Amino acid sequence: MAEAHTREFRAETRKVLNILTHSLYTNREIFLRELLSNASDALEKVRFMQSKGESLRDADLPLEIRITLDKENKILSVADTGIGMTEEEMIENLGTIAKSGSEQFLKDREKDAPQSEGSAESTEEADKAEPNAEATNVEEEDRLAPDDAPRSDASQIIGRFGVGFYSVFMVADKVEVTSVSAQGDGAAHVWTSNGSGTFTIRELSGDEAKDLKRGTTVKAWLKEDASDFLEKFRIESVIRRHSNFLPFPILVDGERFNTTPALWREPKFSIKKEQYDDFYRYLTYDSKASLDVIHLSVDAPVQFTTLIFIPDSEQDLFREQRDEWGLDLYVRRVLIAKDNHDLIPNYLAFLKGVVDTEDLPLNISRETLQENVVLRKISQTIVRQVLSHLERMAKNDKEKYAAFWKLHGKYFKFAFNDFVYRDRVAPLMRFATTWTPEGGAQGKDAELTSFDEYLSRMKADQKHIWYIAAPSREAALLNPHFERFRRKGIEALILTDAVDEFALEGLGKYRDHEFKTVEQAAAADLDAFPDVEDAAPAAAPLEEEDKASFDKLVERMKAILGDQVKGVRVSDRLAGSPALLASEDGVSSSMEKFMRVMQKDDSIPKKILELNPDHPLLRALLRIYKADPENGLVENITRNLFDNTLLLDGYLNDPYAMAERSLKLMGEAAGWYADLRKL
Ligand code: ADP
Ligand code: MG
Repeated sequence: MAEAHTREFRAETRKVLNILTHSLYTNREIFLRELLSNASDALEKVRFMQSKGESLRDADLPLEIRITLDKENKILSVADTGIGMTEEEMIENLGTIAKSGSEQFLKDREKDAPQSEGSAESTEEADKAEPNAEATNVEEEDRLAPDDAPRSDASQIIGRFGVGFYSVFMVADKVEVTSVSAQGDGAAHVWTSNGSGTFTIRELSGDEAKDLKRGTTVKAWLKEDASDFLEKFRIESVIRRHSNFLPFPILVDGERFNTTPALWREPKFSIKKEQYDDFYRYLTYDSKASLDVIHLSVDAPVQFTTLIFIPDSEQDLFREQRDEWGLDLYVRRVLIAKDNHDLIPNYLAFLKGVVDTEDLPLNISRETLQENVVLRKISQTIVRQVLSHLERMAKNDKEKYAAFWKLHGKYFKFAFNDFVYRDRVAPLMRFATTWTPEGGAQGKDAELTSFDEYLSRMKADQKHIWYIAAPSREAALLNPHFERFRRKGIEALILTDAVDEFALEGLGKYRDHEFKTVEQAAAADLDAFPDVEDAAPAAAPLEEEDKASFDKLVERMKAILGDQVKGVRVSDRLAGSPALLASEDGVSSSMEKFMRVMQKDDSIPKKILELNPDHPLLRALLRIYKADPENGLVENITRNLFDNTLLLDGYLNDPYAMAERSLKLMGEAAGWYADLRKL
C-alpha cells in the first residue's frame, strides 16, 4: 500500500475553511447541490471532450450520478463517471480554496477553440416551426441570441468559484474523495480530510484499486446531527428543490430519480407545444395549459435565458398567494432562488417562469441578490420584452389579449406606477365603457376599450376623457351623473375596480387629454355639445306658489332623513332621474369608497341629496304633501328614494329595510290601482 502524505491546505485555508463551512451557506442541504453540481460538471467535461473526438478512459461507461445512503455506517456517497482527477489535480482543486478546476477547464477551452462561427442560418424557419412561443423583436437595448443558437457544452459547466466543495463539511466530519482520471494512467487516488486544516492523499493499489473505473466518488461521514440526509425521501426532496434540471441521470440507492430537462436551454424551434405545457404544469401545478409563452435568450446587456408563462387561470395575488410570485432564478441550471421578487415588478406578478443566467455566482446570498446589478439588468430586460410581447398580442391577437386582460388586468393596471414605461403601459390598459358597438354585447361581456379607441370616437373639441366609477356597467349606465353625457352622446369610461381611479389619477392624462369624473362635470364642460338624444319631455315649470311648497317639501324630506344626509336641495342637472347624491368636496364616490375600505369604515358617507322637481315622482309627492304634510307616504317614499340613490352609488349596506318598504309601497299601489279601476 502506498504511503499517505499529510499536507496542509494552502493559503490561510484553515480560517477560510471555517468561514466557508459555517457561514457562507445558511442552509445545510445546499451541500448536496454542490456535490451534484460538481459531479454534473465532471460528466459535462467528458461529454464535451468526447464530442471533440478526444479518447478517454472507460469510453463506454454511462454518464450518470449515483447516490448511496449507508445508514449503518452513516455514510452518504456521491459517485460520478465523469472526468475524474489525477493526484496533482486533487491537490490543486480540492486542496486549494477558491481554486476552480472547472474555471481553468473553461479558460483552456477558450484558448484552444476557434472563434465560434455564430449562427448564420435564418431564424425565420425556426419561427414558423414554433407552435407556441412567439418570435421576439430585438429591442434596441436588448440583444437576443438567435433562436437556434447552440449553447456550447462547455457553457453548461456550473462550477466557477472553487468553494462549493467545502460545504460538505457543514454536514460531515470526515470526507474521502476517490478518483480515477479519464485522461491519466488509470491510477486511483484517495483524498481524505476532516475539514479542519489538513488533508492526505494516497494512491490505491491491489484489490482496493482493482474495480475502479473512471470518475469520482465523494464519501461523507455524516455528523450526528445530519443523519436526516441518510433518508431517501429527504435526499430526493433536496434534489427536486435544487438540482432538478441537471442534464444527467441521478440514481438514489440504485433507483432512478427523474430529473426534468431544462427546457429553457433548448433551442426554441425544437420545442413542441406539449413540452411547454408539461413544463408549465410542472412549474405551477396548474390544471390548464398556459395562455402564452415567452421564451427568450438574451446576450446583452446581460446573458440570460428565460421561459415565462402567462397563466390562463386567475391568480390570487392580493390574498392567499400574496408572496407566491416572482420568477425562479437559476445559475447554470441550478436553482438559486425560488419566486424571486426582484426579477419582475409587482404589476407583472401574475407571470410564472424561470430565469437562468451565467453571469451570477452560485453561492450568492439572498442579501446580495437584492441589490445585484446583474439582477436589475435582467429585470429591466424582462419588462421591456414582456411589454413588447403584450403590444404585439394586443395588435395581432385581440381575442387572446382580451383573455389576458380579463385574467390579469387587475394586476397590470398597477403599472401606472412605473414611470419609466408609463408611455408604453398606458396604451395597453383596457376599461369598460358606456359605448357599445352596433350589435355589441351588453353587461359583463361588453367590450372593453383602450384609450386610443376612446380618442378615436371622441367628439371634435372634446377636451377630457370622462369616466364614471361604478360597481358595474349597468350601474354606470343608470348613474344620474351620466344622464347629461348620454343625451349628448359623449362616451365615458367605466371604472369598476378600486385601483382604476388611482391608475387614471396616476397617469393624469393620455395624449394631452385629462381624465375627469362625470360627477365633476361643470355645465361649461358640456354646453358646447348639442343633444343627440331627445331629452325627456320637460314638465311645465312649477308655479310660484308650488315652488314655495316644494321648498317646504325639501325641508320636510331633510327632517325625515336627518343626519343621513348633509343636505337636500333642488338640482339643475337632472332630467330622467328623480334624484342623485352629490359630494361637496369633489372627491369621486368610488375614490371615497376605496379610502373607506382602507380605513375599515363601512358607515355611509354623508352626501347631499339633489332632487329633480320636474320628475313625475316628485311632482306626485308634492301633490300628496300639499294635501297632507303628515301623510305617511311622504316619509316612506323619501326613505326609499334615498335608498335608491345609495343603491345606485353602491353604498346601500342595509337592503332589508328598503325591501320591506318597497313591498309595502307595492302592496298599497296595487291596492289603489285595483280599487280605482274597480277590478
Ligand atoms: P467549483 O465547482 O466552483 O469549481 P468546487 O469547490 O465545487 O468549486 O470544486 C473545486 C474543483 O474541484 C472543481 O472545479 C473541480 O476541478 C474539482 N472537482 C470537484 N468535484 C469533482 C468531481 N466530482 N469530479 C472531478 N472534479 C471535481
Ligand atoms: Mg462546484
